[in-house]
Amino acid sequence: MPEDIKKSPNSETSLSRRQFIKTNAAAAAAGAASMALPGCSGKSVLDEEYPDIPENKVNLPPNGKSVLILGGGFGGMHAACELLDRGFDVTVIEKSNMLGGKLKSWRDPSFGVPPENDPDFKGYPRDHGAHAVWGFYNNLREFMGRHGYRLYKIPREDTTMYNFLNKDGQENTIGFPPPNLPGMFGEIQRCYNLLNDLSRFSAEEERIGKYLLKMMSFDFDDVNQRMYLDSISFPEWARSIGMPDKLIYRLFGPLSEMAMFDHIDNTSALYTLMLLNLAGGSYDDMCIDIFMHPPGETYVAPIEQYIKSRGGKIIYNTPVIRVNHVNGKIKSVLAGDEGSVDGSKMWKCRICGSVFSAPSKPNRCPVCGAPSSQIFALTSGPPKEYTADYYVVAMDSPGAKQVIAKSNLTGSSYFDNIMKLEKTSVFPVNLWYSKCTSWEKRFPGFMDFMPSGFKLLGVTLNWAHDGILNGKKACSQVVVPDYQQDYVNDKIAVIETQIADTKRVENMSDDMIARLVHEELKIVMPDLPDPTDYYVNRWDTYSPQLVGYEAIRPPIQSPVDNLFFIGDWVKTDHLSVYMEKTNVSAKMVTNILVEKAGLKKGKIKILQSGSPNKLLDLCRVVFSIYP
Ligand SMILES: Cc1cc2nc3c(=O)[nH]c(=O)nc-3n(C[C@H](O)[C@H](O)[C@H](O)COP(=O)(O)OP(=O)(O)OC[C@H]3O[C@@H](n4cnc5c(N)ncnc54)[C@H](O)[C@@H]3O)c2cc1C
Repeated sequence: MPEDIKKSPNSETSLSRRQFIKTNAAAAAAGAASMALPGCSGKSVLDEEYPDIPENKVNLPPNGKSVLILGGGFGGMHAACELLDRGFDVTVIEKSNMLGGKLKSWRDPSFGVPPENDPDFKGYPRDHGAHAVWGFYNNLREFMGRHGYRLYKIPREDTTMYNFLNKDGQENTIGFPPPNLPGMFGEIQRCYNLLNDLSRFSAEEERIGKYLLKMMSFDFDDVNQRMYLDSISFPEWARSIGMPDKLIYRLFGPLSEMAMFDHIDNTSALYTLMLLNLAGGSYDDMCIDIFMHPPGETYVAPIEQYIKSRGGKIIYNTPVIRVNHVNGKIKSVLAGDEGSVDGSKMWKCRICGSVFSAPSKPNRCPVCGAPSSQIFALTSGPPKEYTADYYVVAMDSPGAKQVIAKSNLTGSSYFDNIMKLEKTSVFPVNLWYSKCTSWEKRFPGFMDFMPSGFKLLGVTLNWAHDGILNGKKACSQVVVPDYQQDYVNDKIAVIETQIADTKRVENMSDDMIARLVHEELKIVMPDLPDPTDYYVNRWDTYSPQLVGYEAIRPPIQSPVDNLFFIGDWVKTDHLSVYMEKTNVSAKMVTNILVEKAGLKKGKIKILQSGSPNKLLDLCRVVFSIYP
C-alpha cells in the first residue's frame, strides 16, 4: 500500500515552537499569509457568516422606470429582487419553465428506485450539479442573510471537502484542522498544517512555501499583473516559477476541473490565482457550505416568491430572440418560440428550454439529456414584443451570443469580443447503486473526492450521503432532508461525477458514458456492483476561463445606453468568482440603474469578497508573481 494512503491526513501531531522555527521561513510566511492572523486583520462585518449591511435593506416607492431582465438564472433573480426593492417595475423573461439557471433543480420520477408505500413521492431531486458556497462569498452571503436564507453549515473542525485521490490510489487531504492552541500559536499551527498538507503533493517540501508566496503575492488591482496571468495557462506560469509538474497536476489539476470544468492546461493562470487569493484571507474563507437540498425548492422558490410578492412579473418558457436597436437605444425585445408549428413536429425541453424537431417524442432531450417526461409538444403562439426603459441581459454567454447575432449588434469591439467567447461542456453523470456499501468502505464519512490522473472522473460525490461529512453532521440546524431519509441505512449510493474531459465522450451515447464512468469508479471501489440506473446531464452553457478571456469580457454597461450584461462571465473589476461574481454583477447593475433613474438613495454597498489580511497585503508589496 502506498505510504500516503496509510497516513491519516488529519493525524498530524502537534508542533513544538522549536520545530516550527526550524521549518523553512519562507514557507512559514506563506502559510501565515494565507491565514488571517488575529490582530492583523481585525474583526469586521466581513467576518460574519451573513454580513449585515443595514443600508442595503431598502423599500423605495415606485420610481416610474421599467426593467426587462432577459434570463432568470442566479444573476437575473438577484437583480430582480434588488431592483424591485428600489421601486423599479421589473419583468423577467426566462426560456425554460423555471428560474435558477445553473442552480435550478427539479423532481425526477424516472430516476432511481422510488421508496415503497409513498403515494406522494414526486421523484428524487435532480439538479444541474453540486454547488458550493465558499466562505469568501461575502456579497452572496449578505444577500442570503437579508432574505433569511441559511446554508448547510459544514463543520469547520477536523473536516474538509478537499479530498484528493490519484489514479495510483494515493490519497491526500487539505484539512487545516484548527488546533486547540490560543491565538497566534493556533494560527502558526494552522500554517504548519497547511504546509504539511501541501507538501504531500510534492517531494520538494521545502519549496512549497516559495510557490505559495508567489501565488499569494498576486495583486488583482494591478491590471498589468491581471493581464499577464490572463495571457498564459496555469501550468505555463507555474513552471515559470519552478513548480514541479507533479504538484501542478495532482493538486491544481483537480481544483481546475472542480472550479473551471476544464483541463488545467486549457485554463488561464488568472482564475486559479484569483481563487487562491480569495480563499486565502482567513480560515473561514476557504471553507465550503452547501445549499439546503434541493436548491430549487429551498433557495430558488423563496426568491421567486419574493419577486412575485413585490409585484415583479416572470414570463416562463419564453426565449428572447433578439433586441431591437433603434437610434442608439434598445426599443423592445422579441421573445417567444420561433417557428412553432404543428405540435407533433416541434418539441421543447422544460429543463433547458431548448426547442428541437423530431418525428416522435424522443426519450431524452438531445441538448441536456432530460428524460421524456420533461419534453412537451410546442404549441405556443408567435413571438411577441416586450418594451421597457432598461434591458439587462442575464443569460449565459452562449444565450447572449445568439441574441447578439440576431440583433445586428456586431460591428463594435464590445459585441465582437462577446462573440469570441467559447462555451465549455459540463457533464454531471449520476449512477444509482442499490445494496451497496462500497462508498462507505472506501471513503468512510466522506461525501466527495477530487480525482487526478483519471480519464473521465472529475469531482465525484455521493449524493445519498446521510448528512454526515467526514464523520461529522453536515449541518448545524437540520439533519437529513426528507428525501434523503429514503437513502439512509438503505445501502444506496447515488454517485455523481462531473466528467473531467468531456471532449473524450461528447459523441458517445449516455449508456456508453455511464458504463465508462462506472468502470473507472471500480478502480477506486473494486467491489462496486453494477449500477441499476444512470442519468447523464449535458450542459453546454458554462463560460470557460481560457487564456486571453479576461481581456475580452464585456463590462456591465454596453455601448448602447440602456443595455447591460450581467453574470459570472462579464468583467466587473471586482475580485470575485462564480456565484459570488454573479451576485456582485447583479448588485452593480442595480447601482448603475439607480444612478440613471436619478434616485437619491438606494445604492447597494458592495463588499470586498474574502477577508482583508494585512500579511497578504505585505506579500503583495514584498514578493512578485513574475518569474
Ligand atoms: C455543474 C456546475 C457546478 C457549479 N458549481 C459551482 C459551485 O460549486 N460554486 C459556485 O460558486 N459556482 C458554481 N457553478 C457556477 C454557477 O452555477 C454559476 O456561476 C451561476 O449559476 C451563473 O449564474 P448566471 O445567472 O450568471 O447564469 P445562468 O445560471 O446560466 O443563468 C442564465 C439564464 O438565462 C436563461 N437564458 C439563456 N438564454 C436565454 C434566452 N435566449 N432567453 C431567455 N432566457 C435565456 C437560462 O435558461 C438561464 O436561466 C457551477 C456550475 C455548474 C455548471
